[in-house]
Amino acid sequence: MSDFDYGIVEEAAKQLYIKALCDLPPDVREALKRAYARETKPTARSVYEAIFKTIETADQKHTLICQDTGLPLYKVKIGSRYAWNGYEIKSRLTNGTRRATQEFPFRSSSTHPLLRVNPQTSVGPGLPVFYWDFSEDDTLDILMAPKGSGSENVSKMQMFTPADGVKAVKKFVLDTVVNGGGMPCPPGIIGVGFGGTADLVAKLAKDAILRPVGQRNPDPEIATMEVELEEAINSSGVGAMGLGGDVTTLAVHIETAYTHITQNPVAVNCQCWPARRARAVIHPDGAVEYGY
Ligand code: SF4
Repeated sequence: MSDFDYGIVEEAAKQLYIKALCDLPPDVREALKRAYARETKPTARSVYEAIFKTIETADQKHTLICQDTGLPLYKVKIGSRYAWNGYEIKSRLTNGTRRATQEFPFRSSSTHPLLRVNPQTSVGPGLPVFYWDFSEDDTLDILMAPKGSGSENVSKMQMFTPADGVKAVKKFVLDTVVNGGGMPCPPGIIGVGFGGTADLVAKLAKDAILRPVGQRNPDPEIATMEVELEEAINSSGVGAMGLGGDVTTLAVHIETAYTHITQNPVAVNCQCWPARRARAVIHPDGAVEYGY
């Protein structure tokens, strides 16, 4: 067993939650600027101006970009060339999440599903949400995302069959976005999971919103589908905050998995304009690099 100081992981989790809430990634800032440049409707343009003011205030005063602190999610890639302790990593990420909430401090958005009791810690059974993966190097790569509820609440999943065809899949994605209207605080990223099982497809859709804005799927057929869906969604006229406009999404990202020969699951995970995420890469010598 290594003598690594796991307090570093706890501190990184605390810093990541705060950074994600206060510091919008550069690719999201640029995508919002491009959307503003494209937008022709005056009401939608005034929404972007309010968005830019919000980002500027958060930068200058180190305040939250949005009051919805979301549910905490960590996507963790554990390097296999170092003896990382998985139990310690999970415990420390949970403690760091609690400490960020109480020490910054900001509102905890997590609650018991039946009793609706909020422990004011952002953690509890099932929270934070963790996605675990492994890499060939020696680092601990942690991507943190606070997921807001306005966008999560309009997310949907459906089990199609191959006989339904790709047209039905595209219609489902488009209908989900259009029916969501202004609820998910557009324009954000539309994450689409395609394939796998009923549970995996939902995770794929979440993975899709965590990619940098506009990063295309490496499969050219899927990348074409992303572009087609983007054009269809932006032709819908929903616009910024649902007030009408030329841009409804910054990008459509699709993540796929092989599926059963008789099924075709699809999930749509909507992300709002503050497509918040923050990353830390931790090295075995204790060095931490922060990014997005
Ligand atoms: S959906 Fe996003 S922008 Fe809208 S209130 Fe929630 S976190 Fe904020």
